[in-house]
Amino acid sequence: MLAQEIIRAKRDGHTLSPEDIRHFVQGLVSNAWSEGQAAALAMAVFFQGMSMPERIALTQAMRDSGEVLEWGSAQLAGPVLDKHSSGGVGDKVSLMLAPMVAACGGFVPMISGRGLGHTGGTLDKFDSIPGYQTAPDVATFRRTVREAGCAIIGQTGDLAPADKRLYGIRDVTATVESVPLITASILSKKLAAGLQGLSMDVKTGNGAFADNLPMARELAQSLVAVANGAGLPTHAWITDMNQVLGHSAGNAVEMREAIDFLTGAEREARLLDVTLALGADMLVLGRLAPDVASARAQLLRALEQGQAAERFARMVHALGGPADLLERPDAHLVAAAVVLPVPAPRSGVVAAHATRDIGVAVIELGGGRRKASDAIDHRVGLSRVVAPGSVVQAGDPLAWVHAADAPSAERAVVLLQRHITVADAAPAPSPVLIEHLV
Ligand code: URA
Repeated sequence: MLAQEIIRAKRDGHTLSPEDIRHFVQGLVSNAWSEGQAAALAMAVFFQGMSMPERIALTQAMRDSGEVLEWGSAQLAGPVLDKHSSGGVGDKVSLMLAPMVAACGGFVPMISGRGLGHTGGTLDKFDSIPGYQTAPDVATFRRTVREAGCAIIGQTGDLAPADKRLYGIRDVTATVESVPLITASILSKKLAAGLQGLSMDVKTGNGAFADNLPMARELAQSLVAVANGAGLPTHAWITDMNQVLGHSAGNAVEMREAIDFLTGAEREARLLDVTLALGADMLVLGRLAPDVASARAQLLRALEQGQAAERFARMVHALGGPADLLERPDAHLVAAAVVLPVPAPRSGVVAAHATRDIGVAVIELGGGRRKASDAIDHRVGLSRVVAPGSVVQAGDPLAWVHAADAPSAERAVVLLQRHITVADAAPAPSPVLIEHLV
């Protein structure tokens, strides 16, 4: 079988056989396919697409390109479940969801990523906890999952190495934005984690990669069909990303909001809605609840009775963080040197967030990366971002900027006054849960 014949077939709009696809994936790992050949096939897929059976074959071949975790030998007392989000601004759902599901009897080995583009990354948020290891050895990872019920860490071992090579090639050949390739990339890593159920959060709006609903729907439908076709029971929610989720964006500030959520000090309504919706799918998929209503009730009980907070504390301590993070967050999460309010330029109603620009403002403060090798300042970000629909008087804070120094804080204040608009009329309500795909 010749690489150029497989590329030619896809270029001309033909369907690739499972053997063609395995040849490609094996060639990615062994380097038998050159970067140029892999890029040419990625571009052919970008233009010609892939059928669902082709996507399933690609996902399974990429899963099998490296280690596939197995949990049977860990003798866990419940199902192995996970959640994945397509990324947003202020999206801290995983921080609370993993311990909530653990408190309800699930086991969540959550392999997360770093910030991508304007969106924050779960791992960067955990790096704001002193001592927390996002790259533990495999034995510590497995022990934490067994004992705390959840472990949120970075890429371990050798999961889906074909995706690693292909993603690097797509990134520099303008072939990232292909629904079949995104589907196989996300799901090959989830399948390799040995899951029994997956809940997907596909975000849409001005702070999401899928900025319009048809695009989000196409991605969500592909993810659900391919995951189920590859043997991983999966449900998806399309959720709104036209505003910051919760009220903070950054790393330590989001960790602080997550701790307040778990301890009950404060639970922002939209953040609670998304967390409960995704968690309910996980409990139903794992047969830990008969239906969504009872799953939501279990999750709320785990929050209100403190079991979710207790699981979070156990996970943090098992992975090297402080034992009293929940009791004394301010003693451990380092504060920014300068904290300034963003005064509302006029009285009125908050009409909109330019959510992507708000994410970029966090990067400019040092809270994200311009290139992969950049270091992050975990202290910086935004807190108390006022939501669309809120009435404000001139001079009221629209948000608080946490910065490393006064000049960067002052620059961010000016940007935020542009990115959070105040108008006379209230915006139309925009429910956070848009569509459910099961
Ligand atoms: N995240 C991934 O893991 N892969 C993609 O292709 C896009 C987002």
